[in-house]
Amino acid sequence: MYKDLKKYLETELQSIEDAGLYKKERIITSSQSAEIEVGGKTVLNFCANNYLGLSNNARVIEAAKKAMDTHGFGMSSVRFICGTQDIHKELEVAVSKYFGTDDTILYAACFDANGGVFEPLFSEQDAIISDSLNHASIIDGVRLCKAKRYRYANADMNELENCLKEAQTQRFRIVVTDGVFSMDGNVAPMDKICDLAEKYNALVMVDECHSAGVIGKTGRGVNELFNVYGRIDIHTGTLGKAFGGGIGGFTTGRKEIIDLLRQRSRPYLFSNSIPPTIAGASLEVFKMLDESDMLHTVLVENVEYFRSKMLAAGFDIKPTQSAICAVMLYDAKLSQAFAAKILDEGIYVTGFYYPVVPQGQARIRVQLSAAHKRTHLDKCINAFIKVRYEV
Ligand SMILES: *Cc1c(COP(=O)(O)O)cnc(C)c1O
Repeated sequence: MYKDLKKYLETELQSIEDAGLYKKERIITSSQSAEIEVGGKTVLNFCANNYLGLSNNARVIEAAKKAMDTHGFGMSSVRFICGTQDIHKELEVAVSKYFGTDDTILYAACFDANGGVFEPLFSEQDAIISDSLNHASIIDGVRLCKAKRYRYANADMNELENCLKEAQTQRFRIVVTDGVFSMDGNVAPMDKICDLAEKYNALVMVDECHSAGVIGKTGRGVNELFNVYGRIDIHTGTLGKAFGGGIGGFTTGRKEIIDLLRQRSRPYLFSNSIPPTIAGASLEVFKMLDESDMLHTVLVENVEYFRSKMLAAGFDIKPTQSAICAVMLYDAKLSQAFAAKILDEGIYVTGFYYPVVPQGQARIRVQLSAAHKRTHLDKCINAFIKVRYEV
């Protein structure tokens, strides 16, 4: 049989290659940081989700090592059999405290949190109303659930209202959105979404992967930015971006929702516990963020500095409320040539084009970090200016 499949796979792979969509991986030989070693060359990294610069933080690494000494390497179990340690429970409390929620359930990744959140809570009688730019893991989670699906254009409150009206015959309704959308760096209008949800009697869920640690006065996500504490029923998030960038995810929110997920959520029941290193290091991350807002302050300053200098240099940048700056080039080929050329200048960024972004909306996505120094930012800005005249 494999002979037949092999032929099919080769054709598929070739068509990906022919479309110019074949994803190649660059090999990093250093730790993840502002400066990384790629292919024997040191470059400045502007494409990691390392928003608070914690991926290589000494205190976080030390905490991971310590947790391994005290709690071992692996759990070899799911949570409900023998995979729950004191530090897993402590981490759930720390996450709840950070977001101002009742309770938290940990997952191996946010992909699993989103994959396991809908099916236990909703059935044919219910409605899930989803932003069109929501993350793939939300889309997959919704697919695993039999609820009726509605979709509204990105952050379009008129379309959302129409969906809510149409969904009135369903038993339960939930509006689901990313907090920060990863391609434009825009924030979902959570205050308006909560208003509409209350008007039309719906629940609200937000995926905080690119928003937690980044938006709001001290980085505590959409609750803080829009002051909607207590109005959002479910938040999902990752430990793999701002909060150290290791791995792991969580769902945090109303008590009874979290209680039921512990009983019925399949990625929680049928997949391994996060290892002690991750639990211990993440506990240290939330302790650090509780002690000081310094990293978040530096991140915000870096975003503002980068944006203002790039705008002053005449670049077309999407408005951002996050740490994602989309430098618009519009042309797909140009975005690839630009990314390749600027790598020669020692700046590592990614060019995105259709179908990842809409046709004719090609861009370079720059992700800022608290790990970036002013000199890094200046080098990046100057490289953009130089390369603009070369491509
Ligand atoms: C990164 C991301 C995820 C997946 O998170 P992992 O913990 O890496 O699985 C889910 N949703 C959004 C919006 C993301 O950006």
